[in-house]
Amino acid sequence: MAIEVEGLGFRYGGREALTDIGFRLGQGTFTALLGPNGAGKSTLFALLTRLYALQDGEIRLLGQSIRRHSASVMQHLGVVFQQSTLDLDLTVMQNLEYHGSLHGLSRREIRQRARTELERLQMAERLHERVRNLNGGHRRRVEIARALLHRPAILLLDEATVGLDTRTRADLNAYVRGLCRDLGLCALWATHLIEEIAPEDRVLLLHRGRLRADASALELCRRADCDSLAEAFERLTATPEQAA
Ligand code: ADP
Ligand code: MG
Repeated sequence: MAIEVEGLGFRYGGREALTDIGFRLGQGTFTALLGPNGAGKSTLFALLTRLYALQDGEIRLLGQSIRRHSASVMQHLGVVFQQSTLDLDLTVMQNLEYHGSLHGLSRREIRQRARTELERLQMAERLHERVRNLNGGHRRRVEIARALLHRPAILLLDEATVGLDTRTRADLNAYVRGLCRDLGLCALWATHLIEEIAPEDRVLLLHRGRLRADASALELCRRADCDSLAEAFERLTATPEQAA
């Protein structure tokens, strides 16, 4: 398994943000982590990436507990955070170099890897451009290239398409699906947008810190007795007051 999460719970102070979350994701799979704002998606990512220390439960990446193998498990992870973390004044290459050296890659290796990843994204000619001059979609692509530089087995994307136009969002989404298919990456795609989910996709539906469902989008519709995922999502994330 690429990712195993068991009995995960997290509190900010006394406030419960995640409760008893459990799921397993295999290699080469694309999974949507769907939940409205405040559901707990970013908190889950912060635990997976060890930004926050674990409180309750366990996380294993490629079979290794992140508690016990805290340094070595990070090499399995590529992350695109909700907020962009590129340095706008540096060039694409400089941003990638910085990340690569953090992961212990040699300069030569970084150059090679950067070229490969940017070519795959059809951005090779932008290598020496300042990030500030790139549009939102291209900046996100650079973040994906950076996340893949050290060849992780797992790619986490936290609302990677927020603020982008429909076409660019669809392109990025298709690109990540391609990585799963072609490179055997395990991708966890956090979103609050139904449009980014295909009927056969596996969906982890998070609401108020709890996993409300772990099923295909089609199955979710069937269970909620709805014609569309949008309707099912609305029904499954309705607060008790609204549902009554
Ligand atoms: P999502 O990414 O799905 O929008 P978050 O993980 O950001 O959700 O937030 C989950 C819950 O935890 C929300 O109720 C949010 O207000 C709360 N929360 C998030 N970050 C903090 C923090 N640093 N301190 C206190 N509460 C937080
Ligand atoms: Mg978030």
